[in-house]
Amino acid sequence: MRKPFVAGNWKMHGSKASIESLVKGLNEQANQVQNVDIAVCPPAIYIDFVQANLSADNIAVGAQNVAEEPVQGAFTGETSVEMAKDLNCAYIILGHSERRAIYGETDAQIAEKTKVVLEAGLTPILCVGETLDERESGVMEKVIADQLDAVIKVVGIDAFEKIVIAYEPVWAIGTGKTASPEQAQEVHAFIRDKLARLNRSIAEKVIIQYGGSVKPDNAAELFAQADIDGGLIGGASLNADDFMAICKAA
Ligand code: 13P
Repeated sequence: MRKPFVAGNWKMHGSKASIESLVKGLNEQANQVQNVDIAVCPPAIYIDFVQANLSADNIAVGAQNVAEEPVQGAFTGETSVEMAKDLNCAYIILGHSERRAIYGETDAQIAEKTKVVLEAGLTPILCVGETLDERESGVMEKVIADQLDAVIKVVGIDAFEKIVIAYEPVWAIGTGKTASPEQAQEVHAFIRDKLARLNRSIAEKVIIQYGGSVKPDNAAELFAQADIDGGLIGGASLNADDFMAICKAA
């Protein structure tokens, strides 16, 4: 039995004032959620501030990206996984479609980042997903398989015991167009089957989150699907009531 995992990806949102009030809301409501792993991933510059304000011990903190260079060096503007670890981050989101599309991150780079995050002992939340064009032109499964294969090639299938996968169809992110529970389940099952061909017991255990316009009113039907083990939440994670309602639905 897999324990559901809901994570909030705050993206590049927030200020000290808004984050203080969001974290206060999370602290007040966190004890209403049981048997769900929860994390929030603030902008890197606010991670320490979130840690200082977060008193709910069932909410972990993560970062939204790290550099391929694990420790430190002359890489202006980057954050290393060791720095994230120093600030007690447990998770690192990797390969988000915004990193892929806007910042040109490649499958190979994301695989390298997965390796350094695992080596640091943190848990990658590895995002995969197709664009609308890719879905409509029938290459969806190939795109997702390629995204996974690039990582499997570098870290091996056994490493997936320590990796969370987030399926995020690009066309559903921030658009209000959620994948239907059936559409999402179909892809989640595809991902699990693909991993099962390499290692059945790891495939059974791997957490596969769904992300893309998850809201309090659609979370329960998505999370009820056999292969959907929680969610990676964007917009709705910026509101404590909404995020907690989604966590409760998991
Ligand atoms: P939205 O929930 O805002 O669609 O964002 C999803 C997402 O990209 C989470 O990583």
